[in-house]
Amino acid sequence: MQNANRRSFVKAIISENSEIVAILKNPSLSNKEVIEDIKKVIIQQLREHPKAYAYYTGKESGEKAFFRLSWRDFAFIRILDYLEHEGDSFPDQNLHGESVVSQPFTILREAIQHDDYTTSDDFYEDMLHLFRQLNGIERPNLPSRQQVFNWMNKNPSGLDPEIIKLRGVNKERIIKLLYQEVLSAPHSARYTIPAQYDKEQALELIHSWWCEDIFQLTHAIRTVDRLQHYLDGSLSSETLDTMRAAVQKGIPIFVTPYFLSVLLVNPPAAYTFADIAIRDYVLYSQELVEEFGMISAWEKEDITEPGKPNVAGWILPSNNIHRRYPNVAIFIPSTMGRACGGLCAYCQRMYDFQSGRFNFNLNRLKPKEQWHEHLQRLMKYFEEDSQLQDILITGGDAMMSSVSSLKEILDAVYSMAKRKIQSNTNRVDGTKYAEIVRVRLGTKIPIYLPHRITPERVAVLQEFKERAIKIGIKQFVIQTHFSTAMEITPESSEAIARLLHAGWFVTNQEVFTVPASRRGHTARLRQELNRIGVLPYYTFTVKGYHENKHYFANNSRSIQEQIEEKSIGRVDPKYYSQIRSFMKDPFHMNVHIDKIRSAEEIPFLATDRNTINLPGVGKSNTYRTIGITRDGRRILAFEQDYSRPHSPIVDTMEDVIIIESKSVAEYLRQLELIGEHKEDYESIWGYSAGYIETRIPIFEYPGYPFQKTDEFTNLSFPQEQKDLHSGPTAIQYVENDNDINDGIY
Ligand code: SF4
Repeated sequence: MQNANRRSFVKAIISENSEIVAILKNPSLSNKEVIEDIKKVIIQQLREHPKAYAYYTGKESGEKAFFRLSWRDFAFIRILDYLEHEGDSFPDQNLHGESVVSQPFTILREAIQHDDYTTSDDFYEDMLHLFRQLNGIERPNLPSRQQVFNWMNKNPSGLDPEIIKLRGVNKERIIKLLYQEVLSAPHSARYTIPAQYDKEQALELIHSWWCEDIFQLTHAIRTVDRLQHYLDGSLSSETLDTMRAAVQKGIPIFVTPYFLSVLLVNPPAAYTFADIAIRDYVLYSQELVEEFGMISAWEKEDITEPGKPNVAGWILPSNNIHRRYPNVAIFIPSTMGRACGGLCAYCQRMYDFQSGRFNFNLNRLKPKEQWHEHLQRLMKYFEEDSQLQDILITGGDAMMSSVSSLKEILDAVYSMAKRKIQSNTNRVDGTKYAEIVRVRLGTKIPIYLPHRITPERVAVLQEFKERAIKIGIKQFVIQTHFSTAMEITPESSEAIARLLHAGWFVTNQEVFTVPASRRGHTARLRQELNRIGVLPYYTFTVKGYHENKHYFANNSRSIQEQIEEKSIGRVDPKYYSQIRSFMKDPFHMNVHIDKIRSAEEIPFLATDRNTINLPGVGKSNTYRTIGITRDGRRILAFEQDYSRPHSPIVDTMEDVIIIESKSVAEYLRQLELIGEHKEDYESIWGYSAGYIETRIPIFEYPGYPFQKTDEFTNLSFPQEQKDLHSGPTAIQYVENDNDINDGIY
């Protein structure tokens, strides 16, 4: 059957592309001559498309030039890139660095000339679509606005009354199970049912404990048997086997009772896949389990050795600080904040979990005596850095830190920022150091454990902001990680409201997993986030290699989503200054957002950028597809995002080559398994290149009333790299950029 598919794909290529097939069929030509002859044919045709020709030859570049390209232009460019790289081999980290060769034309020739069909269906199918894009048989059938609305409406939200009802039933069932457990073997003295209580009183007591974060953490589900018990025996034997194998390999399980209640147990047919974007990362994949123990680090710059430069050249005092860009540092305190309120299966920290560096032993994560002194040393690093203006406190999860730890960290940041300003008074214009203007906290607590956004924690945030704003820190941002509207529950929206009330601006970073990439899903998430006062910031393609294959949605789907779905929420630039002022009044965020939404009749504000965090060079979405493996996986070459400052070492780096972990065909098959129709995604085949979107100005840094120094501190830039570096230095870029991810996505 498979061979029949292959043959039919090649048969179609033969019948629809006579000129190229004649070259492929010619037995007197060497493979090299075939490549040269096809190139001539394509270049000849491309000359009739001057914009595409200019883009291909590099005479024109940039976002505008990219978006002027037509559907066929992308096919011309992809074919030329394939021809250029025919026979090239690439190390494939999905196969532990094994070399894979891209030779699509040689493979086609083997099939056409020698009836050799040893390559996969997925490869031939992708090639057929490429030729049909080239010869105009396939054109993009862009969805109408109404179609996007229909897709959005198919994706439920955790605020839909029916979902709230289903989860209410879950909660009651879980509370009854907790009652039996607490009664027979209490987990702690604090949560023990008094002997004199009858069942009704005991259940009432557990209801009240349910809202306490400590109760949720103490009673988190950590074993497969408890997981199955609390999910009412609904896990399949296959899932149970995978979870057991995961535990055996050392992957922890940690699910709070609250978070378990958001999973729908035996839901009505209409909601069969409603929670799949959550369920998928709570339950581990076969590939993750297979790979655990052999996972390679994706983020090369996160490999740090105190005092030695990381891959981007930054010298870091300890692994509490990670850094990619000159103006941003990620700060990972040695507190309980190294843990999270759950464990996402796609988490890049699986790399660290496998070496036993992380766990959910929350007591052991409490700060040690030396931490307090170490914290001061870390602050000195920030204070003495010439370019640093933004600190992202994360973990794990910044909100997992205890109230006192969070306060200690923010106090330390405040004092450091103040000292930085004072030191600047001794420096003349042009030699002054960047001062701290933005403080961010990275957290998924509003999703995993909203009960932990307590009045005490919120008071710490509010008090910090009130003090810090007086010394010139201007932006106070909570970065959350909602990846589906189903994570937005009444509890999580209340938690967000508390954060907004404390005067912190809330932005979101979505992880674009396969279920999250379904048609209309991310658009619906944006709509619901706006409804609770959150602005989407990034939509991240899943990082990682084979371990994250199950979660990975192809880059072509990300571009398709950006162009065909997100575009209906495009914000007219005339609103930019208005949106920029939102940051001053987070409490009324949803009202402000609504004004623009209703004036423009758009369902959401498309403020996020679809992107991927690349090894070494940070975020970008500027790429071309330059090759394809025998199993149909595309090979992409990414450029760095030139609109943001980088370390000068990054400027000397070459394009980053990523081999996707699955073919487009495999991605579509995966979607079908969760109820999608692959016809709805038909144009995905044609998206083979991307360009990183322009940032919405609300996310820009405020300027300084002085001239900052051009000098870098804490950077090792060897002479040989300096010589190589012919481009502009990082500090010459427009200072319009800010972010790094939190070491998570
Ligand atoms: S660090 Fe982020 S991705 Fe990893 S488990 Fe925590 S919340 Fe999930």
